[in-house]
Amino acid sequence: MAAITTNGRYEHSILSLIEEPILTVRNLTVIYNDEPALDAVNFEINAGERVAIIGPNGAGKSTLIKAVMGLLQPRSGQIVIKGGREQRIGYVPQYEAVNWDFPVTVRDVVMMGRARQIGWFRWPGREHWTAVEAALERVGMAEFSKKQIGELSGGQRRRVFIARALAQQAEMLILDEPFSGVDSSAQASMMEILDSLNNDGLTIILSTHDLNLAFQRFDKVMALKRRMIAYGQPSEIYTPDILSQLYGGKLATWAEGQQITVFVDDHDCHDHGSH
Ligand code: ADP
Ligand code: MG
Repeated sequence: MAAITTNGRYEHSILSLIEEPILTVRNLTVIYNDEPALDAVNFEINAGERVAIIGPNGAGKSTLIKAVMGLLQPRSGQIVIKGGREQRIGYVPQYEAVNWDFPVTVRDVVMMGRARQIGWFRWPGREHWTAVEAALERVGMAEFSKKQIGELSGGQRRRVFIARALAQQAEMLILDEPFSGVDSSAQASMMEILDSLNNDGLTIILSTHDLNLAFQRFDKVMALKRRMIAYGQPSEIYTPDILSQLYGGKLATWAEGQQITVFVDDHDCHDHGSH
């Protein structure tokens, strides 16, 4: 018996060493009114990775995230999520996409993450409330549990959605521009939570306009502008060529240790050769 157990553990540890994609996207094309928003996008994300999606407004970041969440119908392509979509992915939508006036308490929002376990037309039992409390605790929001979601700050609202993903026991968390409109201390505390969840093995995918953050704190960066321009380690992505394909204009990057500065000069592209 002992030998079997040992063997089982051994196999398990070998499995977790092999980089295994938790998300595979193949040839994903999404079209709105005859206009492609995503054109044949291909990538894989391994379990436990942190991936930042960068690209200008209208690049298709939200479209990609919604397609992965199953919220829209792609024209073609395949999205494979190891273990299935519902259980695996927690989602923090773009701020503007949520109706924050909806009268719902913080703990009710987090309880929505338990809907699958509870089943329809049932009252949540004690274990579910315990899970909700634990999730709120984890994101530092336990004391706000009975507040209306609309009473919270932008950063706090995002933390509640992260708690909802935790209550759902998600293994992958996708956040659509979670830092837009939050101040730097709210961003830092959210990033701290994401770090600690990632240390526990959660895969983190987010879209952001913060190029420095993507460079410093993520394993991989995806440069998206309808097509996937590039995908790889930050140092492979932050090249003048890739960044100017993304943002246009003249670009220069200045890397100093962990800090990268990107200079964008989009006036020059209208300035045909005159000095
Ligand atoms: P991002 O999140 O990178 O700013 P989006 O995914 O929101 O980009 O949008 C990609 C493109 O698709 C944009 O040109 C946008 O106008 C268009 N688009 C997004 N959603 C819709 C929609 N529901 N109907 C029509 N066009 C849309
Ligand atoms: Mg968007």
